[in-house]
Amino acid sequence: MKNIAIIGAGIAGLTAANEFTKAGHKVTIYEKSRGPGGRTSTRRNGEERFDHGCPFFTASYPQFIAAVKQWIQADACAVWQGEFINDKQPGTIKYVGTPAMNSICKYLAKNQQVHTAKQVQPIKVDNDKYILLDQDNNILGKYDMVISTAPPEQTKALFADIEPEIKNICKPQMLPMFSVMLQLGSFTPPYAAKFYQHNILGQVIFNNTKPNRGGANNVVIHCAQKYAIDNVDKDKDTLKQAITDAFINDLGSALKIKFSTIHRWLYAKPASTNNQQFYYNPKTRLAIAGDWLYNGDVQSAWLSGYRLAQEIING
Ligand SMILES: Cc1cc2nc3c(=O)[nH]c(=O)nc-3n(C[C@H](O)[C@H](O)[C@H](O)COP(=O)(O)OP(=O)(O)OC[C@H]3O[C@@H](n4cnc5c(N)ncnc54)[C@H](O)[C@@H]3O)c2cc1C
Repeated sequence: MKNIAIIGAGIAGLTAANEFTKAGHKVTIYEKSRGPGGRTSTRRNGEERFDHGCPFFTASYPQFIAAVKQWIQADACAVWQGEFINDKQPGTIKYVGTPAMNSICKYLAKNQQVHTAKQVQPIKVDNDKYILLDQDNNILGKYDMVISTAPPEQTKALFADIEPEIKNICKPQMLPMFSVMLQLGSFTPPYAAKFYQHNILGQVIFNNTKPNRGGANNVVIHCAQKYAIDNVDKDKDTLKQAITDAFINDLGSALKIKFSTIHRWLYAKPASTNNQQFYYNPKTRLAIAGDWLYNGDVQSAWLSGYRLAQEIING
């Protein structure tokens, strides 16, 4: 039995954790945010929820499809049906977490030891064990093996002192994204989601057209990719206004906005795809999983975590 630490409670980390637990290993997960989810997280405003990261995902690999079926049986996931305007993948099934996007990670975390609000610092070695420290330099524990599922820049910092290969692996560049969240007054959503070729707008999602939502009319707007890159350091309130104005202009009707906010994702998606899938060095006992080692989506994150765990368990 190995004593394994996993950094990150997103899809990749939690998937790997469940495989290790099934194989009889001891797993502890550290997550810097307040809950599991990573980029499939959900923002709350009172009783209202916004899926402000990944809005939905698709599944094509048989192993991943089987996992999604289990999530559906557990009521943590459902198919999202509705009108998708300018859909680049018409007819492809769109899945969402229920009742919120972070429900899938909550489900994956239910039999795991997840320590939240713990931002792991660059790891140290002592007598063949890895020592993990939190943001206040408290010792979190000593482990035989450490797996990072953090984005490349953060993984590079975590393993910099120990893993000789780290600079070559953590090369993928991650692109930023802005998500604007609006809670509207009484309004009938004209569509479920709309995808754009536009200088400001990327996609607009009427959150409450997703299954098992209820509540108010919550809209999530992702800006255009180039707009996010060009404006990454600009004032967030100015960007929120510009993105909201572009949405209202496209909608062509007046809106009552009861609440609005904006979130900047510094590391939303990798700039390019990568076929590495995962990284594991049996000599250092350090490993890496995450969507950025594959195709930059939920399915990639799951496959990366799953295949890394299988390699370590069977290898
Ligand atoms: C705006 C947006 C839109 C998207 N759209 C889609 C889409 O339409 N379809 C799709 O399939 N995918 C989409 N994605 C991508 C999808 O969300 C990701 O591919 C997937 O969630 C990545 O999972 P992961 O486990 O690899 O990484 P993450 O979810 O990023 O998990 C890594 C975790 O590590 C934690 N962490 C980092 N550093 C530390 C540290 N030092 N200590 C402790 N914890 C740490 C982070 O807080 C995070 O929770 C989108 C993402 C965003 C942001």
